[in-house]
Amino acid sequence: MKRPVLAANWKMNNGPTAAKIFMDAFLAGYAPRTDRTVIIFPPAVSLPAVAAAAAASRRNDVVAGVQNIHWAEKGAFTGEISAPMAKDAGAAVVLVGHSERRHVFGETDAQCAKKCLAASRAGLPFMLCVGETIQQREARETEKVVIHQLREGLSQVPNLISADFMLAYEPVWAIGTGLTASAGDASAIHTVLRSELRDMVGTRADEIPILYGGSVNSANAASLLGAPEIDGLLVGGASVEAASWLSIAQI
Ligand code: PEP
Repeated sequence: MKRPVLAANWKMNNGPTAAKIFMDAFLAGYAPRTDRTVIIFPPAVSLPAVAAAAAASRRNDVVAGVQNIHWAEKGAFTGEISAPMAKDAGAAVVLVGHSERRHVFGETDAQCAKKCLAASRAGLPFMLCVGETIQQREARETEKVVIHQLREGLSQVPNLISADFMLAYEPVWAIGTGLTASAGDASAIHTVLRSELRDMVGTRADEIPILYGGSVNSANAASLLGAPEIDGLLVGGASVEAASWLSIAQI
């Protein structure tokens, strides 16, 4: 059995001071668990605060991640951070290809592929996000779109069969909108992704967590997490406040 992964994407919320307050409250209420892993993806400036709080609690079931990286190791890329820098600041996981990166900042599949490669080279597991827009869904292109994003995103990762990564299926129309894919619909796409992964890495595919994300909250988290092939949840809006996140992480 894979350990479920509960991931909090704070987006552009919780600066260093708020991050520390959040972590103190969350860790005080969340007893260490061996049956799941919690990842917090804060804004980059809050990464040291989240990582330090997790480290100070002397537990390995809560880790910090970074929401985005540049594919280069260093250089003239004002405003960017690299995978080795994120690792140095305490990141244990890299989020790649979140729909806001793709659709607000125009990130392409080719750039996602370079970021997955950069994370792997830095020795950081990555979580590749895939998902269709509402237009693609209505045109019944969901499977084609997510398979393309999956194949392209992973295309440069060396030794894919032994690479450390996760996937997140996040339908774009469900992110931050209050609309959630039904557990059955999400499960069906996860099954498609799993089968594609099997084609790429054989039985190793069964060990790769596939998370669902899109307007998850404390009311719908249990049914989504209980659905076949859903190995975890990537939560945005409902993860920004410690009390809300605590109620989801404990499901
Ligand atoms: C996300 O940011 O990955 C996300 C799924 O956001 P929300 O839960 O707010 O839809």
